[in-house]
Amino acid sequence: MSAFDPAEALAASRHEFGEHGGVNMSIEASTTFTVMRARTMPAIFQGAKGPARGGCYLYGRHFNPTVYVLGKEIAAIEGAGDGYCTASGMAAISAAVLQCCEHGDHVVAGNALYGGTFALLRDFLPVKCGVASTFVPVWDLETVQRAFTPRTRVLFVETMSNPTLRVADIPRLADLAKRHGARLIVDNTFAPMIVSPVRLGADVVVHSLTKFANGASDIIGGAIVGATDFIASLMDLHTGSLMLLGPTMDPHAAFGISLRLPHLGLRMAEHSRRALELARRLAGLGVGVTHPGLPDHPDHELLRGMANPGYGLGGLLTLDLGTQARAERFMENLQNEQRFGFMAVSLGYFDTLMSCSAASTSSEMGEDDLRRAGISPGLVRMSVGYTGSLEQRWAQLERALRAVGAVR
Ligand SMILES: *Cc1c(COP(=O)(O)O)cnc(C)c1O
Repeated sequence: MSAFDPAEALAASRHEFGEHGGVNMSIEASTTFTVMRARTMPAIFQGAKGPARGGCYLYGRHFNPTVYVLGKEIAAIEGAGDGYCTASGMAAISAAVLQCCEHGDHVVAGNALYGGTFALLRDFLPVKCGVASTFVPVWDLETVQRAFTPRTRVLFVETMSNPTLRVADIPRLADLAKRHGARLIVDNTFAPMIVSPVRLGADVVVHSLTKFANGASDIIGGAIVGATDFIASLMDLHTGSLMLLGPTMDPHAAFGISLRLPHLGLRMAEHSRRALELARRLAGLGVGVTHPGLPDHPDHELLRGMANPGYGLGGLLTLDLGTQARAERFMENLQNEQRFGFMAVSLGYFDTLMSCSAASTSSEMGEDDLRRAGISPGLVRMSVGYTGSLEQRWAQLERALRAVGAVR
């Protein structure tokens, strides 16, 4: 396979001028669209003339031009045929899964997923839709294989698991899914630009654009990319999960996110560089630290093999402070005394965000699930930002570790 560069693909994708020749696209703030001939209307309703097929726009909950431009930009970055955006990452995930499954169908999913996705699959879908899930460690391909049933329609994984930072072997998982007649859906929220799952065999990629893609913690959004037919099916007027459940992205949000994509590659490279350097220094101090760029990470070689060159190996790291109490004192010291980072959920912000996973973003999981997934009570997840200097941030981090007795 030839080398793929998401930044090149984005630059080569469709280029929108604004309505009056502006360098930025215009925001299409219309909820409904005219046709010049009355006969065009029934053709659109029959699905013969929708925008995905080069035709006209109909209504704002169906395709909106500004939102569609952003969808195509995300599709370009992912090397996928087409894409569309949603009001949130959870909307993208739920719509993509529902589009693939009918009542009685089955999902095989990673066992260390984003808490909301875990709750959707474990608690919501079985009761509301009759879609059951089996959770497996995705790095154990034997176990993944055994979990498939004749009704399995989806294998759902995250490129990098949350917060354990285990990496999914996408080519081999894609192969497994294909052999069982299921689609591989990959949540690539943690690794935009870094990994391109569609290029590695995934059928569908979903994103929370709220995180790295937008990068400023001011907009909630999501995206689904995949084959052109799949994206069109989401907007089918009779059977499309996006069309009928209606988690529509506002065109103003799409415009805002689109303005930040040109520097996503630069940001990912710097998030990755900072995270790896801090992880190396933490390891040097003897702190229990996890980052896939460290050679002792179990998936270090796997991720290096899958990653597009130039964007590093990710902006997240975790450190284990042993107990929840010490993790809390560490985060409070770092935020309130050192003034480095924020105790807040989410990730991909320009400043560092940190949270104690077991007590926050993974609290949907019970104690047993947490242990099985390897999430210890003192585990702090840090989404490493790029404000200030690296040396300044390292000095602050070291002082906070000493203050709570994590290093001497
Ligand atoms: C945040 C997140 C989501 C959910 O996205 P929202 O935009 O908050 O709905 C899904 N998956 C991962 C990996 C996430 O980090």
